[in-house]
Amino acid sequence: MVNINLNSVHKKYENADNYSVTDFNIDIKDHEFIVFVGPSGCGKSTTLRMIAGLEDITKGDLLIDGKKMNDVPSKDRGIAMVFQNYALYPHMTVYDNMAFALKLRKHDKKDIDKRVKNAADILGLNDYLKRKPAALSGGQRQRVALGRAIVRDAEVFLMDEPLSNLDAKLRVQMRTEIARLHKRLNTTTIYVTHDQTEAMTMADRIVIMKDGFIQQIGSPMDVYNKP
Ligand code: ADP
Ligand code: ADP
Repeated sequence: MVNINLNSVHKKYENADNYSVTDFNIDIKDHEFIVFVGPSGCGKSTTLRMIAGLEDITKGDLLIDGKKMNDVPSKDRGIAMVFQNYALYPHMTVYDNMAFALKLRKHDKKDIDKRVKNAADILGLNDYLKRKPAALSGGQRQRVALGRAIVRDAEVFLMDEPLSNLDAKLRVQMRTEIARLHKRLNTTTIYVTHDQTEAMTMADRIVIMKDGFIQQIGSPMDVYNKP
């Protein structure tokens, strides 16, 4: 079970005059697919990174399953994150890219192998495990990035514009794959995008942000008034 609560979360970067995120409040339920949407610079990434523990929270509280997480290191928050630029290691094979974080955490070899092969099965990457990222298509690279999140066996997925480097056709295809993955793995997922169509087709609930504030929260139907 994973519920995530943000209680009046604020962010002001050290060198900034204004708050980048102001009074962000939401109760995210177990297994929800939440999408933060809004124009560039409205504070989506900053909010996601505070949840991930990659940025400090200036004011307010982050609770995961009722436990205050503000000061808990990123690695102990039980989350897996997927980035826009994939952040793959170019000198490592697909297998090693997926195995890397587990090796750091001292998982044994057999466990790593099982997890990587399971992720490769789910993502259709079995034939590519020995390749390096440069020899993959954009869609395959994105799958490897997803694979690195899957092997963590985390209950929370955070995704920051994971599809924005893909062409339109692939974006539509991967959208469906990510939605399916969310259901299959039973994760609580927070997904950041500036693309309203993405938000509408994937979200259980959408958070519309503007200038660091939440403008509206609701189902796709509520916020865009269409199915
Ligand atoms: P979005 O993800 O919606 O594009 P961001 O969360 O990246 O927006 O940025 C929100 C605001 O915070 C922007 O005004 C941006 O310039 C500012 N910002 C982001 N990162 C930093 C930083 N490291 N230092 C100072 N200001 C930042
Ligand atoms: P996708 O399956 O993500 O839609 P593409 O349509 O771009 O991928 O590529 C079609 C096929 O070509 C894929 O099966 C992929 O393995 C292969 N391919 C793409 N780029 C390369 C490359 N640089 N080296 C070897 N094979 C490649």
